[in-house]
Amino acid sequence: MLRHRLSSAVAALVLLGAATAPVPLAAQEPTAATPPGLPPVDARIQAAVDAISADRMRSTLEHLVAFGTRHTLSDTVSQTRGIGAARRWIHATLEDYARRCDGCLEVSYDPHDVVIQRFASHPTAHVVNVLARLRGSSDPDRVVVVTGHYDSCICSVSQEDSTSDAPGADDDGSGTAVVLEVARVLSERFPHGLPATIVFGAVAGEEQGLLGSTGLADELAADTSVVVAADMTNDIVGDVRGQKGGVDSLRVRVFAGEPDDGPARQLGRFAAQTGAAYAPGFAVELIERLDRIQRGGDHIPFWRHGYAAVRFSETLENYLHQHRPDDRLEFVSVPYVRRVAQVNAAVVASLAAAPRTPTGLRMTRVMESGGSDWQLAWEAVPNAPDLAGYEVTIRGTTEPFVSRVVPVGMMTSYTLRDTQADDLWIGLRAYDRAGHRSLIASFHNPEAQPAAASAPRPR
Ligand SMILES: [Zn+2]
Repeated sequence: MLRHRLSSAVAALVLLGAATAPVPLAAQEPTAATPPGLPPVDARIQAAVDAISADRMRSTLEHLVAFGTRHTLSDTVSQTRGIGAARRWIHATLEDYARRCDGCLEVSYDPHDVVIQRFASHPTAHVVNVLARLRGSSDPDRVVVVTGHYDSCICSVSQEDSTSDAPGADDDGSGTAVVLEVARVLSERFPHGLPATIVFGAVAGEEQGLLGSTGLADELAADTSVVVAADMTNDIVGDVRGQKGGVDSLRVRVFAGEPDDGPARQLGRFAAQTGAAYAPGFAVELIERLDRIQRGGDHIPFWRHGYAAVRFSETLENYLHQHRPDDRLEFVSVPYVRRVAQVNAAVVASLAAAPRTPTGLRMTRVMESGGSDWQLAWEAVPNAPDLAGYEVTIRGTTEPFVSRVVPVGMMTSYTLRDTQADDLWIGLRAYDRAGHRSLIASFHNPEAQPAAASAPRPR
């Protein structure tokens, strides 16, 4: 069932084409090294990844662009134009996927009435996310969220123009197409669900200040029964040509905010490794930053809640095609968006299949050793019938990826010897019988907090 596939260098795949004119191909493209420590490949997840369809995604993009504008304040009555028609089409598309899997997807509108603070008139917007839930089998209260925003704008011309054409093919038709296609293949391949619940979200109001995603993140955070395992947003994931003429169809960026040993960064690393395992030849480039400078995305409300939350974006952006009338489909490479969707399918399914991230990791020096050995202890992860054990993970403080893994079996404590932990990030993850790994929980040294931290300094 499982096989290891350790691809070495990034293969020179040619992912261009689509509606784009001929361009210089892979020989001139940058590549990225494959990160170490790739997870074993689950054949069922690989089959889902391979089922991601460029034709389906092209059709989704054509439909979204055809609504003319999907501005948050655009027409909601027309059946053919504006954000109302767009969300009804997204809802109907997800309902169709639900019918095909005997109702395995629970499709809903998720409305939020929000005042748009950044507009002078402070209008109230009826911001409506469209959600589809694939309920988890053994751990349904644990939730993996994947979003793209279906609203569009020509904000670079006018923030409030809600009637002119705003095709939003790349921003963010591309991310919406990713979400719908991942929902299609995972509902088709896993009609009885993976262990955790997956929430597929086409969110709105992004362009006016992350309004829909803030509503969704707050809603999930307020539900004390829910554990948000991860959130990923796909925003601007379709253009392979940079503004200055470069081409990169072989990499996607994953923006993962601070802290370095925190949940978002761990998810970024997980995405880079999982993407390399399931979509060899296409690299997930880890960017150790919350987002592009002075820009934002729908992962940020989740990151603010302390969740593992990251953003996917194309590597070379053409800002002249964003928030403008010429964010058109001809500038989107559908084969590229397909690869981004493949990475998403692999990451979402792998996280939903894995056990929970362990909690309560503690480290104390073993004084009998003079302080060189460390006693580790943690809480057993719940709701994991296939749990096979835990691994202590070790990473240098300046290393991007884990360099040493110590399997410790079904224990909830371990003595770490002959390891100068002061120079390392020590972490822990859980794994199941099929080899699915959780995100890594790091040990946080309370003395390392800045003086401004409110907690009293421990002795
Ligand atoms: Zn966007």
